[in-house]
Amino acid sequence: MAPLSVNALHDGVDVSHRSPVVGHTLVRGDAEYEAARRDTMWNENVPDRFPERIVQANSIEDVVSAMRAAKAAGQQVAIRSGGHSWSGNHVRDGGLLLDVSRLNRFTIDEKSMTATAEPGLGGSALLAELMKRDLFFPVGHCRGVALGGYLLQGGFGFNGRALGIACSNVTAIDYVDADGELRHASETENSDMLWAARGSGPGFFGVVVRFHLRLFRKPQFIGNVVIQYPIERLEDLVRWIDRIGPAVPPQVELQWVMSRNPSFPPPIRKAARTSPVRIELAVTVMATSRTEAKAAMAFMSSRPKGARIRTPLLPTPMGAMFSGVMQHYPHAQWVADNLWTNATADELLPHLLRVADTLPPPPAHLLCRGSYVSVVLRRLARRRRCQGDDGVVARQCRGYAVAVYRRAVCRRPGAPFAGRFRSRSAAA
Ligand SMILES: Cc1cc2nc3c(=O)[nH]c(=O)nc-3n(C[C@H](O)[C@H](O)[C@H](O)COP(=O)(O)OP(=O)(O)OC[C@H]3O[C@@H](n4cnc5c(N)ncnc54)[C@H](O)[C@@H]3O)c2cc1C
Repeated sequence: MAPLSVNALHDGVDVSHRSPVVGHTLVRGDAEYEAARRDTMWNENVPDRFPERIVQANSIEDVVSAMRAAKAAGQQVAIRSGGHSWSGNHVRDGGLLLDVSRLNRFTIDEKSMTATAEPGLGGSALLAELMKRDLFFPVGHCRGVALGGYLLQGGFGFNGRALGIACSNVTAIDYVDADGELRHASETENSDMLWAARGSGPGFFGVVVRFHLRLFRKPQFIGNVVIQYPIERLEDLVRWIDRIGPAVPPQVELQWVMSRNPSFPPPIRKAARTSPVRIELAVTVMATSRTEAKAAMAFMSSRPKGARIRTPLLPTPMGAMFSGVMQHYPHAQWVADNLWTNATADELLPHLLRVADTLPPPPAHLLCRGSYVSVVLRRLARRRRCQGDDGVVARQCRGYAVAVYRRAVCRRPGAPFAGRFRSRSAAA
């Protein structure tokens, strides 16, 4: 298919006779370079890797120009949207770092229940706009995660068990290819690129400058229950989740965190190295009514005994939901590891018990999301150079972080990512 004109998508000027690089360009050695490089990372554990040039794009034309310039110079390109890659995948030695975080515009068409969103837009920001219009999209659970990286890597979002993994609701993309041509991909046009965009993560073959999204009606009841258990209940809890997991209705997202700094109730004092490790079970339900929500939560009556705190099922604003999750993600030096597995509770428990025994000082935590997804994160004990895959991180950082994802995260037929594999943090 012929490339699109930039003007076809965006109010802008023809870029064909522009100087090769626009946007704000910083070259290694410039006074502002280091601040700009560090600023591209959410994680304070910034890798010791140094791009030759950083281009802060302000428009799609800037992306086109930067890609053409990179091609002319024979430079490799790394892309940053929200900078939430745990490993700082976009921070590489040499080449061009193309920062598209300023591309954060969106359109919402209530009638056709569709939206377009640029890659630098935060998922929580998009959701706030959608909810004003009684609409919804399965955005991620944290503020700051941008749609660019989130949608490309799949996207486990709020209500994703009912609505599907977020990338399955990307109907088309506009992207700039390696030749600097702006193109469109849909089911009928450049369809292989749309296929690749639904899960390629950091391996996509272009710069996505706009996502076209399918929207949903806002669930009329959004509620949440938080239950806190002492760590001694770990085994009961894991066995219970293993047992009831397959029967948890799709309106419900079941996740638990093992941590010294639980999000509820909001801590009076800062958690310390000696604070006890606790388990927080956070159950979110999104349904058409309170009655439906209560019915979907009925399985909770079989939960293990011995909880210390239990909140009632109450309507919960999304803002409060994001704030609760963000308690676990203060700015810090993080390492994270990811593991997908279909291991049984018996196989997992010895490892989970070991994590409980050795959980480092706050804000480290282990997160098990949904009935099938588990993640462990560990803060870096001290600053170290962390490169390469998670095995290298583990060796270099006196610590480890493991994410355990179990099969059938999303029950929609044909949902990707079923089965057993171990993921690798992408870096350099
Ligand atoms: C605190 C925190 C919470 C998270 N919560 C969730 C969650 O609830 N659900 C979930 O599914 N994931 C979650 N994630 C993972 C997150 O979705 C991924 O790390 C995602 O890649 C972040 O997107 P980003 O745009 O912010 O990151 P970036 O670091 O900007 O992007 C990640 C990589 O994607 C590629 N990329 C980014 N933008 C583009 C583009 N426009 N075109 C082409 N390639 C591009 C680049 O290779 C880049 O290195 C979380 C991560 C963090 C740190």
